[in-house]
Parts: sequence; structure tokens; C-alpha cells
Amino acid sequence: MSLRFRKSIRIGKLARINISKSGIGASVGAPGFRIGMGADGKVRRTVGIPGTGVYHTEVIASPKKDKTKPRRTCQACGRQAGQKDRFCRHCGARLAT
Ligand SMILES: [Zn+2]
Repeated sequence: MSLRFRKSIRIGKLARINISKSGIGASVGAPGFRIGMGADGKVRRTVGIPGTGVYHTEVIASPKKDKTKPRRTCQACGRQAGQKDRFCRHCGARLAT
């Protein structure tokens, strides 16, 4: 038997706060339907049939990460430039847009 730290706090009839090792998430829903934000910041929609154990979870929103943005590099010195920088902070060259 594995012991995992997980706790659910009910708020009202439909809302719930889940505390787990990975963080705190919140969810709102009714039996068979749930929308929740996980500790990873992703919003999931779960639809299922209560009592059957059949559930379908779908990620409907993910947190925006800087990783997904294309990186800009200075054409003069090759070093990384900020997304909104107009001039290279390393060498001062004008950055292409
Ligand atoms: Zn540069």
C-alpha cells in the first residue's frame, strides 16, 4: 500500500479544492461533469458516467509558457535577445523584427 498525500476540501456543493504533493488544484462540477485546474496550471474537463468509472478527461487550457515563444537572437553577436528588445543588450546592435 502506498501512502500519498492528498486532500480534498469541499466548498459548497460543487466546488472543491484538491491538495496533493504536486500542488493545489481547484475544481468545480457535478457528478459526471467537472472542470478543474490542476497543480500544473492546466484546465481539464472531465466528463463521465457516475458509478461506472468511465471518464474522459480533456485538457482545455494550458498555461502559457515562454518556452513556446520563438527565441530571438542577435544577428550581430548571436546572443539571446529579449522578445521586445529593439536593440541587443549585449552589443547594442539593432535587432530585426
Ligand atoms: Zn548582439
